Amino acid sequence: MPELPEVETVARQLRPYLKGRLIRSWRIMDPRLALTAKHRSKVKGCRIGRVRREGKQILLEMNSLQKKSIFLLIHLRMTGRLIYSATPLMPGTKHIRAIFELDRGWLFFQDTRRFGTIKLMESEKELRGSAVDPFSRHFTPLRLKQLFGNTTTSIKTWLLRQDKLAGMGNIYASESLFVAGINPTRVGGSLRDHEVSRLHGAIQQVLRRAIKEGGTTFSDFRDGNGRAGNYARKLQVYDRAGEPCRKCGRPIERLVQAQRSTFYCPNCQH
Ligand SMILES: [Zn+2]
Repeated sequence: MPELPEVETVARQLRPYLKGRLIRSWRIMDPRLALTAKHRSKVKGCRIGRVRREGKQILLEMNSLQKKSIFLLIHLRMTGRLIYSATPLMPGTKHIRAIFELDRGWLFFQDTRRFGTIKLMESEKELRGSAVDPFSRHFTPLRLKQLFGNTTTSIKTWLLRQDKLAGMGNIYASESLFVAGINPTRVGGSLRDHEVSRLHGAIQQVLRRAIKEGGTTFSDFRDGNGRAGNYARKLQVYDRAGEPCRKCGRPIERLVQAQRSTFYCPNCQH
């Protein structure tokens, strides 16, 4: 599933094509998206303003003809892709679930496994839960420590909680813990202040670098131009079980925590 860097990459790439565009019409090809004719009529005639990431989702902020704000929140899930095209036909592409006709170009929502969602909201308040985004100014070492509280969950599993830290996922949780030198089986609430600080820095560093490389390509992820990301080459531990640690040379180990794979170096992470 795309994590924060992949979704940020898609948002950045689509932004110049979508900002300021008028949505002439919108066709829903897949009834599973559960959008009604009423939803569709609200979007028609809207002009797209900001295009940004909200947690792991793409957010299109729009203004209706009546100058009302409307928000389209798109979750790519496993295989969803948003593809901008200057032409109405994309040869050879299947599994198109929705098409937006713009005053210049078309936006396709393609999704092989159909787990992706599109939601329409009329207030920004509905968007935000209590989770902190790792790039918001509210995300500080102190805030991270407060979020941990007295949790007895292992730190790796805790990092995947979307109600705490928005946008983190399995790949970057392992990577951040390696950079911070923290063993993934440690209990979240047991981290000392200097470890929380190190982890806070590592999370931002890992995510920022991944965004710079256009994300990590795994299974079906493609960016807004249909291209693969480059970060896979830079991964330190993820999916490298048995391969030498890039710091100490000993083999990277894999373990399963809450049904998810964790990769780490037992020698470098304590
Ligand atoms: Zn090592």
